[in-house]
Amino acid sequence: MKFKKNKLKIDDSVETQMYDLMVELFPICRSITGDGVRKTFDVLKKIIKITTYEVSTGTKVFDWTIPKEWNITDAYIIDPNGKKILDFHKSNLHVIQYSTPINKEIELDELKSHIHTIPNKPKSIPYITSYYNEDWGFCMTNEQFNKLKDGVYKVVIDSKLKDGSLTYGEYYIEGKTKQEVIFSTYICHPSLCNDNLSGIILLVFLAQFLQTQNLTYSYRFIFVPETIGAITWLNKNEAGLDYIKHGLLVTCVGDPGNFTYKKTRQENADIDKIVINTLKKLKLNFNVQDFFPYGSDERQFCSPGFNLPVGSLMRTPYRQFVQYHSSEDNLEFVKKESLLESLKVYLEVVSAIENKEDIPDLEVKKIESDADTEIFINTNPKCEPQLGRRGIYRNFGFGRLDVESDETEKFELSIFWILNYSDGNHSLEYISKKSGIDLDILRQTALKLLKCNLLEKVNRESN
Ligand code: ZN
Repeated sequence: MKFKKNKLKIDDSVETQMYDLMVELFPICRSITGDGVRKTFDVLKKIIKITTYEVSTGTKVFDWTIPKEWNITDAYIIDPNGKKILDFHKSNLHVIQYSTPINKEIELDELKSHIHTIPNKPKSIPYITSYYNEDWGFCMTNEQFNKLKDGVYKVVIDSKLKDGSLTYGEYYIEGKTKQEVIFSTYICHPSLCNDNLSGIILLVFLAQFLQTQNLTYSYRFIFVPETIGAITWLNKNEAGLDYIKHGLLVTCVGDPGNFTYKKTRQENADIDKIVINTLKKLKLNFNVQDFFPYGSDERQFCSPGFNLPVGSLMRTPYRQFVQYHSSEDNLEFVKKESLLESLKVYLEVVSAIENKEDIPDLEVKKIESDADTEIFINTNPKCEPQLGRRGIYRNFGFGRLDVESDETEKFELSIFWILNYSDGNHSLEYISKKSGIDLDILRQTALKLLKCNLLEKVNRESN
């Protein structure tokens, strides 16, 4: 029997339901662990019966360890005149995620060293995290920062960073076969709409529709904190990964921009063909990005040890909209119509998967590289290694490209390219051509990774 998407009633009421759910979830302070994530699941469970899992602090997941659990109840700053000038309850972006507790009086200079702003966006509060480097800090608009006067300030962050657990959720719809389609999204961002309440909401409504259908494939909906959660999920579900036939990472699906499809690492997987063909058939304006080994959780699913057929279908990609990781990514930025349109496009993709449409192969750019020297093997091919604890990655999760230095950015990107493509088959020359990163930078990075034992050199002569 054919999948009948026409039977699905997607009317204006769905548009409103999706947006209302976003309004309900917006104020909750989510992070990679903690009660904000659990509260979010409590709300989602009213729509679909998600199963949640708790993984204890200290549990090893590949190269990573589940961190302490973070919870926060309050945070504020009182100025020298006794006035509250910053209040966590007005925006949970005001506090660096994972801030340790603090309650003291400090001079302006010291306070300033703990405040983050976006200088070229004076009215925006940035979204900053410090998951793996214990620190405390506030975020405010640059306008507010520039008005701070000399004197003694009282700073309070009422948070707890203790042993606990990481929470993730899954919803499974059993089809006729065990062959699986996975949709994964991340639930760790606080009050930010496009990145990524939009992904959470689309997934919940997609699941709600599909559970009433007669499906050939089984469908798995994965709700995890970004990076650590995807790594945890892959660690706990490694035995079943062979069932995955198609996968999509769902993020940034609520803004009014055009669709963007980021291809899988395989470059010509069935899901790549299906999504691109669907977007063409719908006569939508869209962009296609070749796979790159950074971004969101597709980089874990597509790490060389797994190389799963997981792409990412978004609207305007993360980092490419100016509201990204700031208070401007709010309920005004995301549009009801865009959310609904994204849901419809995802349903068309499911329809193409179910009906097994025959689609010709995609053209894949060939990269010529004869070099059989400078070939390495990533010693942690399953997901990415934890770079932070080796001191070769920044400690703060910053946002847009334009607030970072070019040098740091290039170095960090070169790490991801080398680790992802060093599977014994690709030389540094190949990686340079593929990434557009200068061969000399890649050589310097490879040396650093060798020193940390994250790479091993392949010696062709001794083989
Ligand atoms: Zn993000």
